[in-house]
Amino acid sequence: MTVTLITGANKGIGYETARQLLELGHRVWIGARDVERGEKAAAELGARSVQLDVTDDASVGSALAAIDTAEGRLDVLVHNAGVLETGLDGPAALRSFDTNAVGIVRVTEAALPLLRRSADPTVVTVSSSMGSFWAVTNPERPESGVPLALYAASEAAATMLTVQYSRAHPDITFNALEPGTTATDMTAAMGIGRPVEESARVVVRLATLGSAGPTGTLRDEAGELPW
Ligand code: NAP
Repeated sequence: MTVTLITGANKGIGYETARQLLELGHRVWIGARDVERGEKAAAELGARSVQLDVTDDASVGSALAAIDTAEGRLDVLVHNAGVLETGLDGPAALRSFDTNAVGIVRVTEAALPLLRRSADPTVVTVSSSMGSFWAVTNPERPESGVPLALYAASEAAATMLTVQYSRAHPDITFNALEPGTTATDMTAAMGIGRPVEESARVVVRLATLGSAGPTGTLRDEAGELPW
């Protein structure tokens, strides 16, 4: 059975990705920073849950240790936890980068020993085309008109980290993706986005391709995106 960990999976795209991967037969661990929210989501879905705050080294270490004890390996890691800060100051910048970028380093480093014990280890980063230099400088792309400096910069870092990890670990498949603008709590104030089921399908596709697919890319559902 494929063992999968999804960070920030107590709601939104992560929750729906968990639901769809469970349907495909994965054993899914819901990583949630709030124990109760994680346990509630896991109970609804028939998943397992583990306390995991991507901004807290001790929490990340304990979460991966718990999965190691229970499973002995990790086959699929989905970096999904993320925040969208609309302000622009030092504390907001630290929160954005801590969650969206540094969190990827914390969780990947803690997961690598478990991933190395998988037959086909796969890491998917739910990033954003807002972090694509090509998209935000292209007047024909909607990203070019959205002033979200901290979100865009931290997602650019998330994508680059994913590409760099793919270079450092050619035996593990690493890709970043833009799931599509989705109606979740993150976008609720903007009143935009498609149903979460459609965007989670993009995550599920990449999470299930493994080494049969590409590595070191940024993609959306139509294919590869220039970074
Ligand atoms: P969401 O509904 O707000 O879900 C975000 C999830 O991340 C929640 O479970 C949240 O947990 C969790 N999270 C936040 N900080 C965390 C931390 N420090 N440690 C662990 N978990 C944390 O948003 P979403 O739209 O599903 O977003 C999921 C991912 O998709 C994000 O990475 C986002 O950047 C990306 N994305 C979204 C869109 C879109 O249109 N929605 C587009 C492109 C990319 P709590 O419930 O505890 O807050």
